[in-house]
Amino acid sequence: MGTADLHIHSIYSHDATTTVRAILKQASDVGLNVIAVTDHDEIRGSLEARELAPKYGIEAIPGAEVTTKDGHLVALFVDTLPPSGLPLVETLIHIGKLGGVAIAPHPFNNLPGSLSMEAVVSALTNPRAKSVLKGMETHNMGTQSFDTVAQKLSIYLPLAKIASSDAHIYWAVGAGRTEFPGETAADLRTALEKNTTVPIPYHEEFSARAILSWVRRVTLRRFGYASDSISATQPINTQKLTESFIQRTKKKKIIDK
Ligand SMILES: [Zn+2]
Ligand SMILES: [Zn+2]
Repeated sequence: MGTADLHIHSIYSHDATTTVRAILKQASDVGLNVIAVTDHDEIRGSLEARELAPKYGIEAIPGAEVTTKDGHLVALFVDTLPPSGLPLVETLIHIGKLGGVAIAPHPFNNLPGSLSMEAVVSALTNPRAKSVLKGMETHNMGTQSFDTVAQKLSIYLPLAKIASSDAHIYWAVGAGRTEFPGETAADLRTALEKNTTVPIPYHEEFSARAILSWVRRVTLRRFGYASDSISATQPINTQKLTESFIQRTKKKKIIDK
């Protein structure tokens, strides 16, 4: 069995704090086989990850978290960014034309950005959209206390069950993970098509720690700092931001939209 984390944000997302290299290093350190960097309406991070991933002994699938009219949608195996703002069904059909598949992230929890049951059911009754929507998150580390509805409804839906970190900080990468038969990105795609994935639940107290860490890091990001490969094994400690570290990080290209 291989393991994948298919919903990770890099600094190409306005609200995330981790460089692509730090994500890849962490993914490799925690033993993931496959990852997907899925930034908000942005694909560059995932293309960068795909290029660099072999150096870290893992595979990275290109994709993005697309903001549809009905809520967020994780598009995978696409090389170009699907447009945002379209209805779910149209977005799915577009992703299909690009050769990709999609996962419903953090669904059915009434939070802003989450797909409703009605939206997903209407997609599943459209044959073209249904052929693209292959999975749903039953576990999303960021919304875990709201995931019970998705977990209960997942038994009735023909969708592969996925656990994802939705990491916005490097050390959360792999905190939500999905097992699949095989080890490669191609094996993972087969598992999504055949509905043979297994979501691995996370530790329950993880969320509060992640939120605190995220607040600290997103504040540091405002000053131009991000978790890089230098800091990927050690959390950034504001007390230890020495002059040389500041100089090093300032020389890095930090993308700030
Ligand atoms: Zn989302
Ligand atoms: Zn997300």
